[in-house]
Amino acid sequence: MTQRIGIFGGTFDPVHYGHIASAKMLVAKLSLDVLYFMPCQQHPFRKHPGASPSQRADMLTLAVADEAQLQVDERELRRDGISYTVDSLQDIRSEFGEDAVIIFILGTDAFASLHQWERWQSLLLLSNVAVIERAGQQTAAQITESALKALLAQSVTTINASHGELVQLVLEPYIISSTVLRSALAATYQVDSKVDEAQIKVIHEFIPASVVQYIEAQQLYQSNH
Ligand code: ATP
Repeated sequence: MTQRIGIFGGTFDPVHYGHIASAKMLVAKLSLDVLYFMPCQQHPFRKHPGASPSQRADMLTLAVADEAQLQVDERELRRDGISYTVDSLQDIRSEFGEDAVIIFILGTDAFASLHQWERWQSLLLLSNVAVIERAGQQTAAQITESALKALLAQSVTTINASHGELVQLVLEPYIISSTVLRSALAATYQVDSKVDEAQIKVIHEFIPASVVQYIEAQQLYQSNH
């Protein structure tokens, strides 16, 4: 049987249920054998994230502990400096062989800047792409970059090829981001202000309990940057 592999890249600083729930829906919708979260070493467009690469990987590992089809791929953390997705997909293709159906997954917000990624056109020579509509963010229909619009115009409904196809998916929305959660976590450390129950509710609603415990033990996200 041909293997169907999903690769979900990102910073995951920290991982939240928007990532986890989307990943579970993607396993079902794309008939994946396994979906790998692939945390990046350093976001090419952003200053250094709050947690260290190994802490972000630890949080992901805790978050997927009970999900057999969700795993963590740490290859970008083993490389120094900026992580280029195209290099990772090249490695993954070599590992799984040319017949494997490999699907690189990203939200519409990340897809909107795909044309700025290193050797981005090669991504489709190595894998398929699934663009997931991210609630509260730019929609695929709002993308104006002509090269990206041309790609979206060739969307398929089901991915069957090993590479080269693009599918657009609308999943049940989770209106949350790591940025909002980092702010909520930092707010709980403000000594002068009363503990804000609303912020605590957001943290527990969107971050798995084992990850919240890890964040507390490691004293992560105490200040907002
Ligand atoms: P930040 O707020 O720090 O930018 P984030 O919540 O956007 O973080 P990332 O690690 O940047 O998380 O996202 C990794 C991938 O997951 C991206 O492709 C992004 O579009 C997608 N993603 C993030 N949050 C959600 C969500 N709530 N629903 C669907 N997809 C999401």
